[in-house]
Amino acid sequence: MDPEIREKVRRSLVEAIGEGRVLHAETDLRAYRSDYFYQLIANGDRDRYAPDFAVLPETTPDVQKIVKVASDHNIPIIPKGGGSNLCGMLVPVKGGIVIDTIKMNKIVEVNVRDLFATVQPGITLKELDEVLSGRGLALNQLQGSYKVATIGGSIATAGFPRKHNKYGTIGDRVMSLEVVLADGTVLRTGPKVLYTSTGYRLHQLFVGSEGTLGVITEATLRVEPLPEAHAAVLAYYTDFWSALEASCQIKVSGVTMVGLEAFEISDSWDYEAPAGRHGALVVDFEGTRGEVEAERRFVTDIVERTGGVLSDPRNAEFVTKGYEMIWCGLKAMCEKRRDAVCSYIPSGRLAEFYDKVWNDILPKYGMTPYPFSERRSADMGRYEMAYVVFALPDDEKWHESHSAATREIAELAVSLGGSIAACMGVGLKYRDHLKMEYSETALEMMIGVKRLLDPQDIMNPMKKLPVVETRAIPNANPPGE
Ligand SMILES: Cc1cc2nc3c(=O)[nH]c(=O)nc-3n(C[C@H](O)[C@H](O)[C@H](O)COP(=O)(O)OP(=O)(O)OC[C@H]3O[C@@H](n4cnc5c(N)ncnc54)[C@H](O)[C@@H]3O)c2cc1C
Repeated sequence: MDPEIREKVRRSLVEAIGEGRVLHAETDLRAYRSDYFYQLIANGDRDRYAPDFAVLPETTPDVQKIVKVASDHNIPIIPKGGGSNLCGMLVPVKGGIVIDTIKMNKIVEVNVRDLFATVQPGITLKELDEVLSGRGLALNQLQGSYKVATIGGSIATAGFPRKHNKYGTIGDRVMSLEVVLADGTVLRTGPKVLYTSTGYRLHQLFVGSEGTLGVITEATLRVEPLPEAHAAVLAYYTDFWSALEASCQIKVSGVTMVGLEAFEISDSWDYEAPAGRHGALVVDFEGTRGEVEAERRFVTDIVERTGGVLSDPRNAEFVTKGYEMIWCGLKAMCEKRRDAVCSYIPSGRLAEFYDKVWNDILPKYGMTPYPFSERRSADMGRYEMAYVVFALPDDEKWHESHSAATREIAELAVSLGGSIAACMGVGLKYRDHLKMEYSETALEMMIGVKRLLDPQDIMNPMKKLPVVETRAIPNANPPGE
């Protein structure tokens, strides 16, 4: 940015929200330069991009003023939550102003009777749950990153939690949003109700929008009472496929559970797996004592009918409570040269997916599966998801190998009737792969929505949408790097 304009913008930002909340020194901005995924795509060159400013608003009017400054000077804005996304969503490809929501972490209202909470976007999922539990409530969005992921970031990435079978994803819990649009206008998406048959569902437009349509400044979310009881079933099978088949039977039985996962266990698995059993499934239940007991018994019957060996209930509890441990595992992944893919694969096609990924794509590019991921696993609840965690090759071509393998896995997911990214979003990582999954008309419509809400293309530019020239909007995005 031209130094004169930069100084002008700095002064405007300081005037808008105060000196102490505008970061512009090179050392202060270092933390906003990159994210984990960017280190992959930039071939280790972390410092290639940098924002011009990072700002720390506390209120919606603060955000409005910041956005107005950006809009007046045609400067990009990158809203930031906990920074835990894994797709390069925060990379300041065109510089600009990072709006760090860390200080927008207040709870506006908790309504115990009507079961909703209204919060600012910077509160983390964990912080909100802690406050809610004191009132006998829970948000039930236990993602692997829930200690650091914020409400704003989770909504903007269409976050996917473990207990989604009963409680849905964050997108299912959004009742209403307040959003500062690219010209500084405040949009209230609709009434604070979980269901209405009036109006377009504008709040859903911002679920998974990745900061490209506006800055979420307040969210009203449905919460649930804390359950009276919980229980879990852990069962071992000969292999992953028999565990998967049994979990399909549980899924279609109509029983209500909070989570259902099938996975392959390795020799280092601790929870008293009988010899020769390499597949497992875990189911957990929450609700009233009577409900939970009846559901547990119902699932136990299915396990016995399908040849599963039930484990001690204490082991089941350990496994279901082990989600925080996944955090540690994935954190290790982020620090080394590893990547993860979470694709939506219909359960009937999972065998093909894993066969091609493990036996064809990864070996072709010199990649190896990362052991902690238990090789094959499938979230078998309402939304079906397969995880693949792999180590990148240790050679100078690792960067090209990573791009090629990611593309092939994406093509495979789509060809099997699934989706490239069941969670974790698009960012820079999948931006150019969206064409595999959406028709030209659908993409044109998405670009049209972006153009309508952000005609200057200042809201997190170069993310989410592919670089395409469309009939409706020629040259909507300049070609990426
Ligand atoms: C160890 C680990 C485990 C993970 N497990 C899961 C998991 O189980 N399920 C899952 O879904 N994801 C998971 N993720 C991915 C990531 O945590 C999620 O995408 C998370 O929801 C991002 O939240 P955040 O606050 O960190 O957002 P950030 O990374 O800060 O931002 C993500 C995107 O949201 C936008 N954004 C942030 N705040 C706002 C706002 N106020 N208004 C508008 N846009 C905004 C940003 O511009 C960016 O595009 C995991 C990541 C890690 C590192």
